[in-house]
Amino acid sequence: MQELLVEIIQETRSIGINHIDARYVKDYYEIFNAKNGNPERLSESYRSGVGFRVFFNNYMGFASTNNLEKSSLKKTVKMALKIAKLTEGKTKKKKIFQEEKEVHDKYITPTKIDPFSVDIEEKIIPLLECTKLLAEKDAQIRNATASMMNRKYSTLYISSEGSIIDQILIQCGGSITGMLMAGPGGMFVRTAENYRAQGLEFIEEFDLIEQAETIGNDLVVLREKAITVPNGNYNLILEPSHLGLVIHESIGHPTELDRILGREADFAGTSFIEKDYLENSFRYGSELVNIIHDPTLTPALGTYGYDDEATKAHRINIVDHGILSAFQSGRSTASEIGIELISGNARAHGHDRVPIDRMANLYFDPDPKLALSNFDELVMESKKGIYAMYSKTHSIAPNRSNFQFTTQMGYLIENGELTKPLKSIVYGSRTLDFWKNCVATTKDVIIYGTPNCGKGNPGQTIWTSHGGPYSLFKNVRIGV
Ligand SMILES: [Zn+2]
Repeated sequence: MQELLVEIIQETRSIGINHIDARYVKDYYEIFNAKNGNPERLSESYRSGVGFRVFFNNYMGFASTNNLEKSSLKKTVKMALKIAKLTEGKTKKKKIFQEEKEVHDKYITPTKIDPFSVDIEEKIIPLLECTKLLAEKDAQIRNATASMMNRKYSTLYISSEGSIIDQILIQCGGSITGMLMAGPGGMFVRTAENYRAQGLEFIEEFDLIEQAETIGNDLVVLREKAITVPNGNYNLILEPSHLGLVIHESIGHPTELDRILGREADFAGTSFIEKDYLENSFRYGSELVNIIHDPTLTPALGTYGYDDEATKAHRINIVDHGILSAFQSGRSTASEIGIELISGNARAHGHDRVPIDRMANLYFDPDPKLALSNFDELVMESKKGIYAMYSKTHSIAPNRSNFQFTTQMGYLIENGELTKPLKSIVYGSRTLDFWKNCVATTKDVIIYGTPNCGKGNPGQTIWTSHGGPYSLFKNVRIGV
């Protein structure tokens, strides 16, 4: 396939185009579900094909096919070129494609156990065991469900600049959920999930049995002891998995450059960030807030060697001590507003989708000089407030300027100590007020993977990772 694609790209290049690239994608995916100790669903899928982007007079055309014969591939390139020519003069979406350096490289996710080398019967055992254990923890736990996802996603990228990049990304992870029904209005849900760029060894590390024990205990505590917190303004501590969702929604999406340029306005939304904010030392949060984009952070789920525009994965600050310092961009979006720093976020899911600006591993990395040593110190620092745990729902403005999150449970903090357990906690804020009110964090970072960020039209689902330290925000509105 490599020789064939090189040949087609060289032929096409000779007709005066700016750039052409091909992505040959093979996507193996499997998901298993179990409920109350029984298997529920086993689903396997495989998709493959080639997508071509052609830039003619800096206007882009894209076409794809899953027919890998030479005649079909050549026809697809012609179609992409035709679309680029038709686009010329009819749209403002001109893509000035910044030239890439020629790259020859390979990247493969480091793994110990290839998930696709193990029998399905063996892989599903932990799901059956953990859901049985959770269902038997209490008579009122009616639903104990768990899932496991494995993916092998390989891309061969070839461009007219001469680049040839071969990548195989391997992912593994799962989730477990318990639902306790305690009469009218007394339903409690606890979920744990995590995904990594690792092999099947991660399922052992994730320890579904231990997760089932914790979830079962939490559900009983919620039924027997949890109270509802009165509405008001409180100091609020977030644990790293929920903090990760807040980062995703309130910093991740608004700093994607294609959103800032209005490309996602008809689907995923816009951004309150303007493209000139980078030049003006825009304050996003307090001086404690460092948000890092790092697709080299093995084994976090959003790890890769190169994005889908041949930019090598590298670490940069998106927010540096509270100041907005970079956008999440691809080669084409960065070129469009004339910024040199390309973060390498252009990714597509599947051969039949165009690369767009996507989050990778985006997390809160505290400055050790400003961080507290541990969780107990943070609770003491907060004096009186709320500790909120595990994401439940969220609602966020299309331009991400304000939000409301709900967590599954929490604890009241009184006199610097955790006291009463709390039922579902609802809180809301303006995005910038919230991050400017980040007043303390712990030192250690915990990262969680999420496999299903949706964006684009037609839609694309991509894998990301987020997290950070335990973090304290002052004066946050609790309640609806
Ligand atoms: Zn998302």
